[in-house]
Amino acid sequence: MKKIAMKNPVVEMDGDEMTRILWTQIKEILIEPFVGLNTEYYDLGLKHRDETDDAVTAAAAEAIKRHKVGIKCATITPNAERVKEYGLKKMWKSPNGTIRAILDGTVFREPILADGIKPIVSGWKEPIIIARHAYGDIYRAVEFKVKKGEDVSLKIGGSAEEIMTFQGDGVLSVAHNIDGSIENFAENCFEYALEKKKDLWFGTKDTISKVYDGRFKDIFNDMFEKKYKEKFERAGIVYFYGLIDDVVARVMRSGGGFIWACKNYDGDVMSDMVSTVFGSLAMMTSVLVSENGFEYEAAHGTVTRHYYKYLKGEKTSTNPVATIFAWTGGLKKRGELDGNAELAGFAENLEKTTLKTIENGTMTNDLLPLFKREGIEAKGVSGEEFLRTVASGLTV
Ligand code: NAP
Ligand code: MG
Repeated sequence: MKKIAMKNPVVEMDGDEMTRILWTQIKEILIEPFVGLNTEYYDLGLKHRDETDDAVTAAAAEAIKRHKVGIKCATITPNAERVKEYGLKKMWKSPNGTIRAILDGTVFREPILADGIKPIVSGWKEPIIIARHAYGDIYRAVEFKVKKGEDVSLKIGGSAEEIMTFQGDGVLSVAHNIDGSIENFAENCFEYALEKKKDLWFGTKDTISKVYDGRFKDIFNDMFEKKYKEKFERAGIVYFYGLIDDVVARVMRSGGGFIWACKNYDGDVMSDMVSTVFGSLAMMTSVLVSENGFEYEAAHGTVTRHYYKYLKGEKTSTNPVATIFAWTGGLKKRGELDGNAELAGFAENLEKTTLKTIENGTMTNDLLPLFKREGIEAKGVSGEEFLRTVASGLTV
C-alpha cells in the first residue's frame, strides 16, 4: 500500500508515563502504516528535560513557530515528590506553561462525542467548546491581609488613589489585565468560531465590574463590529454577549454546539464542568491557537496510577482517544495548511473509525459505565487492544 506523503513536518513532542507508552503505540499501530510520517521530534519526557536544563521545551515551542503545527504528549509537571523520584536538578516549570508563554494564544477544549455515551445534561447534543483566557485576573493578582482600621490606597503613576479604610480585619486582592492580551483572546475566539463555523458566546459580570469586566465586553464588541460582523454573517454564525449568570443559564438549556469564551477563572471552573457532563477527561482534546501556530494535545495528564500498574506488569486499560485526536487534529491542520487533502482525509477517517469502534461496543474500561446503546454489548479492552481494533476498522 502506498503511504500518504507529507510535504512539511509537524513538531512531535513526546512525553511521560502511560501517555508516552500510548504515544508510541498510536504511531506504530494507527499512523505509520498509512502515512509517511514527517515529524521534527522533541523529547519532552522529564528525564530529557532535566538533562537539557529544560532547553528542549523552549526549542520545541520555537519549532512550532517555524512549522506552525505541533502535537504534544502529556508531560509531568514536577512537584517535590517528582524531584525525588527522578533525581531532578531542579523543579522545572510546567512545559505547557513554558510553551504557552512563548507562543501566546488561547486554549480551546473540546469534548469528543460518541453515540452511546450520553452527556449527563440530556439536552446537550453537540460539544461545547470552552475557550479560556489564559492571562491575568486572580491568577496574577497580588493579595494582602489587612488589619482593622488600616487605610488602603493605590499609587498609579504619579497619583495616589484612596481606596478604603478597613472596617475589620480582612483581605485585599489587586487583580489586573492587559488590553493587548484581551484583544488577542478576542481575536483568537472570533477566528476559531469562523474556522469551526460555530456561534461564539461570551459572558462577564460587567453590571457589577463596570470598568474591569466592562473592558472585556467593550474589546470583544468593538472588534466584532469592526472586523468580524460581516464575516460572521457570511458564515451564518452569531456572536452573543450576555451577563455571565444569564449565559450559564442559557448554556444549561442549550443543545450545545457553540464556542463559549470564558474569562480566566470562569474557564478554569467551567471546563471541568463541561468535561464531566460529557463523560470523561479522557474524551477531551485541547488545542492552543495562536498567531504563531497550533498545538494539539489531550486534556488529561500522564495517567500515573495506570503507569505504575503497567510497570508491575499488570494489564491496564488507559483510554487513548484524546491522544489519537491530538494526532488527527495536528495532521488535519498540516493537511489544510499544505493543501494536502489526502492527509486531512486520513485524519478525518481515523477520527470516525475511532468513534465507530466505541459505538460498536469496544472501549477502554473508563467508558464502560457510561455506555448505553440498544442491542450492543460493551466490551472493555486494554489501550493497545483498542488501538488494534481501530486499526482493523481502518484497513477494511
Ligand atoms: P491524569 O493523568 O489526568 O489522571 C487522573 C485520573 O484520571 C487517572 O488516574 C484516571 O483515573 C483518569 N484518567 C485520566 N486520563 C485517563 C485516560 N486516558 N484513560 C483512563 N483514565 C484516565 O491526572 P493526574 O494523575 O492528576 O496527573 C498525572 C501527571 O500528569 C502529573 O504529573 C501532572 O503533572 C501531569 N499532567 C499533565 C498535563 C499535560 O501535560 N497537559 C495535564 C494534567 C496533568 P483512574 O486512576 O481512576 O483510572
Ligand atoms: Mg480547573
